[in-house]
Amino acid sequence: MKIFNTLNKTKEEFKPIEKNKIKMYVCGPTVYNYFHLGNARPFLFFDVVRNYFKYKGFDVTYIQNITDIDDKIIAKANDENVDYKDITQKYIKAFFEDLKQLNIQKATLNPKATDYLPEMIALIQDLVNKGYAYESQGDVYFAVDKKKDYGKLSGKNLDDLQAGARIEANTQKHNPFDFTLWKKAKAGEPFWESPWGNGRPGWHTECVVMSKKHLGQSFDIHGGGIDLIFPHHENELAQAEAIDDKPLANFWLHNGFLNIEGDKMSKSLNNFFTARDVLKKYNADTIRFFFLSKHYRSPIDYNQEILEESRIAINRFYEVFKKLPVYKENIINDHLSTDLTEIKNNFLAAMDDDFNTAKAIAYLFELSKICFNQNTEESHNIQAANLLYELGSVLGFFSKLKDELDNKIDDKAEKLITLLIEIRSLAKKQKNFEIADKIRNDLTQLNIELRDTIEGTNWSLKK
Ligand SMILES: [Zn+2]
Repeated sequence: MKIFNTLNKTKEEFKPIEKNKIKMYVCGPTVYNYFHLGNARPFLFFDVVRNYFKYKGFDVTYIQNITDIDDKIIAKANDENVDYKDITQKYIKAFFEDLKQLNIQKATLNPKATDYLPEMIALIQDLVNKGYAYESQGDVYFAVDKKKDYGKLSGKNLDDLQAGARIEANTQKHNPFDFTLWKKAKAGEPFWESPWGNGRPGWHTECVVMSKKHLGQSFDIHGGGIDLIFPHHENELAQAEAIDDKPLANFWLHNGFLNIEGDKMSKSLNNFFTARDVLKKYNADTIRFFFLSKHYRSPIDYNQEILEESRIAINRFYEVFKKLPVYKENIINDHLSTDLTEIKNNFLAAMDDDFNTAKAIAYLFELSKICFNQNTEESHNIQAANLLYELGSVLGFFSKLKDELDNKIDDKAEKLITLLIEIRSLAKKQKNFEIADKIRNDLTQLNIELRDTIEGTNWSLKK
């Protein structure tokens, strides 16, 4: 399996640190607003990464933090004249609601920054002790000059940065690119006590502490949007390596932007749509298709037409499942025919090549074509439908269908089953056991089980 590693700017053979285990960390939301569709892209992509590793049999630990203390949160709380915790509680709840609506599975754990203050203070103290950080008027900064290879993740170097930068008025810093580890609290701001006075931790420190705490000294994958490479991830990496000279993560993965008319979708440009607004118009599968039909590292333009096309494409898959039964457990996929085995292998090869979901989706279309092929045996078409369901689920599609298969069946089907049960009991009364047995057997084939009791016949979906 090959994955593009931002650290070395190349596709590299992926090997987990521990056999059969994947440890991954993805930067989560700063909770002061509903997240927009551009924010949803990494949430959705890394959901697929996790699914795929699980599908391949790995035991995955996926940590996604929540930044619940930050300048923007404080500003919003001041605007609304409420406690900052009212803001964070509201938007943490909204975050999980929106993930659910997008069919994005929760991470193994979502640590909140404010639960790790002692560990953050300890890490900053350690950096100060080791000479990588210094206190200045109640703030603590990381001294980028002390880290000789600073800039290696983003490919920037300090000389270039300094040449391109405006000279800051902040004379507290030794170097304008020194970044904040601890920020002194202004009057009225939430604060925690520390050796440097009252204040709060910097964002870059939060992620180092929470990732190391839950995944260990070094882990397999660190992910996020491309905008996080610099300065956020660069600064995470610098702190982690300054502490113990071990890589924080072996692989750094970054997804491209969602653009609107050439600009990145962002809150600051005010050109965004919240995920929950888009969900009012398009369902989760459509939005997922919209993102996954492009390679994760490519930029995507938000465009109504492409969303419409995605909706149509998804409906094609649903046509398959209306026509052919699929089984919740993959009962028959162990004995795939040669042509289906080839498609499955191609799908896996596409995913193994740096998560090429766009290519993988093309194989789902091949499968749907087979499902509709009238010249092949129905059992073969059903097998194709099952494989479509299995592989589509790896990409996170069809979860609604899964719910239906798990729990319910639609109204019409329910009425039809009742009708068949009535016909069967009539047939039995008339001693036409051939018809009665056929109804029972054919329903069993569709995973519908009949049970005769004294009160009558009950039915249930086979688990
Ligand atoms: Zn982070």
